[in-house]
Formats: sequence, structure tokens, C-alpha cells
Amino acid sequence: MIPMGNQAWSAPEMPTSEMIPGLPPPAFFDYSAFSCNTSPHHSPARNHLQNPKSPSGPASPLHSKLSHDTSIARFESDCPVNVHPLPLPPGATMPSPSAPIPQAIAKSEFVPMKSQWKKGKLIGRGTFGSVYVATNRLTGALCAMKEVELLPDDPKAAECIKQLQQEIKVLSQLKHLNIVQYYGSDMVDDQFYIYLEYVHPGSINKYVREHCGAMTESVVRNFTRHILNGLAYLHSTKTIHRDIKGANLLVDSFGVVKLADFGMAKHLTGQAADLSLKGSPYWMAPELMQGVMQRDSSSVLALAVDIWSLGCTIIEMLTGKPPWSEFEGAAAMFKILRDPPTVPETLSSEGKDFLRCCFQRNPADRPSAAMLLEHQFVKNSQQLDVSYCNTAFNGKNFMSKRAM
Ligand code: ATP
Repeated sequence: MIPMGNQAWSAPEMPTSEMIPGLPPPAFFDYSAFSCNTSPHHSPARNHLQNPKSPSGPASPLHSKLSHDTSIARFESDCPVNVHPLPLPPGATMPSPSAPIPQAIAKSEFVPMKSQWKKGKLIGRGTFGSVYVATNRLTGALCAMKEVELLPDDPKAAECIKQLQQEIKVLSQLKHLNIVQYYGSDMVDDQFYIYLEYVHPGSINKYVREHCGAMTESVVRNFTRHILNGLAYLHSTKTIHRDIKGANLLVDSFGVVKLADFGMAKHLTGQAADLSLKGSPYWMAPELMQGVMQRDSSSVLALAVDIWSLGCTIIEMLTGKPPWSEFEGAAAMFKILRDPPTVPETLSSEGKDFLRCCFQRNPADRPSAAMLLEHQFVKNSQQLDVSYCNTAFNGKNFMSKRAM
């Protein structure tokens, strides 16, 4: 029987060497006329996936001191976790290239990253650690500080390290408005820290809870477009998130949604994807439960698991709960495997069609994120883009723009 919490991790298989830093989302052509009503068995042209190289770092033992030269911390010899130096906080001056700091001085002046950030109030707790708001001591900038205690004798430590490793490997290669930005990581004694962009007020499921259990369709359309933008970019790097759900999607004060929690993400390497049973069951695609993906599915088809989960997240946003949440364990699993999720009656015809696309049982019939961005459900949504946010920050009249 499948437990209804998150699944246990398997060893991450994503070599850093194949990630694509800063790759923009792929260009897509006009699918505005496409609809899952009229074309249930189309074979969509998928993203062109590229495969450039970047170096990956060496490993070191769990309690080795952090070296400023390498910025690498190591855990057990078979569970390396790369530790990245934090970038200078916003507003701090970069050392001039014409006046390089002598290595010895740089070393003696090295301040552990942890001490650059003052731990503030607790935001929330995950399976392995706690997340705090932290304030930069130099600039006052905020970040989300994820703190994980790694006790060498703890039997859960290995799993925890694998998840952290996965999260850092994936996140450190990504840069996109709709993906939570990774700033760096650090280890002090037995505590491991990941520093991330602070996204306030927080997760979509918290947003749903605080907005009387559901959102208006207009907000759902806007959030869905943001999630699709993040997914289109992520998938263009041949990476699956594998745990798309309200709790892992963060919303900022501009209503911009960012993909977070990459502990289950997987970079697809070869032709075939070998996906183990991972994710949160109510949001999990049926092909994952059937074990189909574990044999010979192509890596392009594997990306479709995130599209199914997106459909479940849309239902979660609209109703406050994912499909089949009234059932537990095996009963929920049978429902997911056999019946199409119930689509809210009050949803517009565009929304219903969008969900039909996400819930195509055959992953080959599920449109890619890039294609779904051309669907009328999200094309008609309110566009609150970065330039708009920047305008607000630059002191222009935010409220009058909003009314336009
Ligand atoms: P699990 O790790 O078990 O899947 P989780 O995703 O809730 O659970 P964490 O990623 O550790 O676990 O997050 C814990 C809490 O902190 C969540 O409520 C989440 O919304 C919040 N959080 C995580 N990252 C950030 C961030 N960058 N900005 C703001 N809040 C965050």
C-alpha cells in the first residue's frame, strides 16, 4: 500500500554536469487554437531539450571544516553535498578586480555565511528541518534560511542528506522569476543551512487556507500561468519537479508564484526516464503509481508528471483540497488510477478544458508546459509581470497602473 505522505527518497541521479544555468524557456509556436476537447489524441511537439556542461564539485567528510577556497562541505563519503558561497548581499560592494584581496587576508577575514545572516522568526517546518526568516547584518535584506540538523548517528540523516543534495544541485543551476532563487548554503557544526529568496506571504495552500478555502478563477488563472512559466523553464533544463502542489508553490506580495522545494526534483539524463515512486500521492500522476515510468518511458514523457500534478493543484486552489482527498491510502490510489478527477462545475469552459488537458491519462497526450501557456485559460489571465513590479518599486504610481 502506498502511504499517503511523501515517499521515501531514492538516490538522486542528477549529475550537475548536465544542467543548463540560466537557459531561457524554449520558444513555442502558436497553440492558441489547441484544445483537448477537439484533439484528444494529438501528439504535441515537445520542448527541445539541450544538454550543455558545467563542472561539479568534489566531496568531503561530514564534519570537515568549511574551506573558503573550495566552498565545499562534505558529508559521508558517498553522500556529498556541495556548499555554495553566498553572493554578496544586495547593496554590498563587490571587490574590485583591479585590487584583488590577497588570499591570506581573504582567509583571515572570512566570516562564516551563517554569521552574515541573523536568524529571525520561524516560518514553518518541513520533514527534515525548519525555515526561518533571516536578516542580512550588512544590508537588512531578508532571506529564507532553511536549517537542518544533521546528526551523524541519526538513521534519517542519509535520507535527509540526499534530499538536501538534490535540492542544492537543482536549485543552484536555476534562475527564473517563477522559481525560488537559491543564494547559497553553509554548514556550522551539525547544522546545515540553505539560504533562499524569501517569498512572502508564502505557500499557495496557506493562501487558500487564509482566503476562506478557495480562490477566484481569475486568481487561479494568474497563478497557473506563473506555475506554467516556471515549469516550462524547468522542463527546458530536462528537470522534473515531481512534487508540484500548493504547499510547494510560494506566492509573493505581487501575486507572483514561485516553484519551491526541489528535494524530489530529478534531472533526466538518458533517453529513458527511470522514475521511482516519489511525490505526494494525491497530486501524483497515475502512470507513476502504475510503475509504468520505471521501465522504459522517454524522458520527455516523464516531464508530463508535473502537468498532472498541476491539474491537481488547480483543483486544490479552486476547492481547497486536491482530488480524492476524501479517500485515504489504497482507496485514493484506486480512484487516481481508475477515475478522472472531478472538475468543479462552476469552472469556466476554458478552465474545464485546461484541466482535461492536464488529466489526459496517457502522458503522451498531455501537452507540455510551453504548449499550455498558449491555452486560453492562462492567455486571458491578468498579466502582472516583472517590469510591472519593477515600476512599482521604482516609485511610479502602482495603484493607477493596477487599474489600467
Ligand atoms: P517537506 O519538506 O516535508 O516537503 P515543506 O515543503 O513544507 O515540507 P520546507 O521546504 O522545509 O518544507 O518548508 C517549510 C515551510 O517554510 C513551508 O511552510 C514553506 O511554505 C516555508 N518556506 C519554505 N521556503 C520558503 C521561502 N523561500 N520563502 C518563504 N517561505 C518558505
